Amino acid sequence: MKLAARVGQVTPSLTLAVDTKAKAMKAEGLSVCSFSVGEPDFPTPAHIVQAAQKALAEGKTKYGPAAGEPKLREAIAQKLQKENSLCYGTENVIVTNGGKHSLFNLFLATIEPGDDVIIPAPYWVSYPEMVKLAAGNPVIVKTTAKNGFKITPEQLRQAITPQTRLFVLNSPSNPTGMVYTPEEIRALADVIVEKDIYVVSDEIYEKLLYDGAEHFSIGAASPEIYDRTIVSSGFAKAYSMTGWRVGFLAGPADVIRACITIQGHSTSNVCTFAQYGAIAALEGSQEPVEAMRQAFAQRRQYMMDAVQAIPGLTFPRPDGAFYLFPSIQQTGLTSLEFSEALLTEYQVAVVPGIAFGADDCIRLSYATDMDTIKKGMELLDKFVRSRL
Ligand code: GLU
Repeated sequence: MKLAARVGQVTPSLTLAVDTKAKAMKAEGLSVCSFSVGEPDFPTPAHIVQAAQKALAEGKTKYGPAAGEPKLREAIAQKLQKENSLCYGTENVIVTNGGKHSLFNLFLATIEPGDDVIIPAPYWVSYPEMVKLAAGNPVIVKTTAKNGFKITPEQLRQAITPQTRLFVLNSPSNPTGMVYTPEEIRALADVIVEKDIYVVSDEIYEKLLYDGAEHFSIGAASPEIYDRTIVSSGFAKAYSMTGWRVGFLAGPADVIRACITIQGHSTSNVCTFAQYGAIAALEGSQEPVEAMRQAFAQRRQYMMDAVQAIPGLTFPRPDGAFYLFPSIQQTGLTSLEFSEALLTEYQVAVVPGIAFGADDCIRLSYATDMDTIKKGMELLDKFVRSRL
């Protein structure tokens, strides 16, 4: 069958492809150290699981409102008020099938053919592809390791044209782990307001911060930027709920209404009993989140020390998320050559930087156990030395 032209414009997700390959190798009995997909290895906290089980037992198994369970929308609005100083009502919130779906809804709702969307590189693999699926043009602005992989206000200003619709901000960042300071965020907000564009702020990693780094929601910088901000987030990373598929989008009521209409014709509501788990996540104890963050902090330190000791690999210090994004330039290999050889010869899975618009880097996720990290870093060391 002849496929739609839009399919030919997008490439399959490399983060998912590498993860699938690593899991298939494990299923064949091979011992694989996987640093590929960004998926916490912890079980979902027990009180969240119990809340979903209770919802199931109580028969919360029917269709619900496409926008999400009212109680969950309210809990999200309160979280945004309390933790992010963003004043939203339930009409400003939609519950989605994960952070990825939040962004997809948003792009479909706001981008017209020919609209430009500014995406700083390195970027998360799906941003440009989703923009293309929505018939927009991803405008990639390269950032450098020297600059901590952060876009500067000048770079943003220069990239904006009359066709610019949206700017994608992601802090803490996947894949680099960098976190913009509140001052840096405010400076970007000034440009967005001055040029009268919109920003989508992907804050899915906001709770995974280290060494005193601070998360600042751009929409809280001023009333003017609040009006131009849409926040995208979800429960997967902080609450170890990757497979639950619960995310949310918050922003101007007309944008949210448009997303609800799209969702009403695409997925309908998010799995009803999963939403009750999400309510428990927000309303219950946050201790498990902090315990996981502390475990990530230890792994991060170990991985940073280990990678720093490998000759030829360099990286800017990441303050958030659970990724390290070292440069492999000195090996002379492309990121695909590097990743494929590392997986074949040493059974270590990493994501090639080309997936994120940086072919001279690889992404290492430390959302995995310490034994895997220790063994994997030894193997990475051997591999890199063999190539220098
Ligand atoms: N966001 C995670 C990652 O980058 C999960 C995989 C995906 O959806 O791309 O590894």
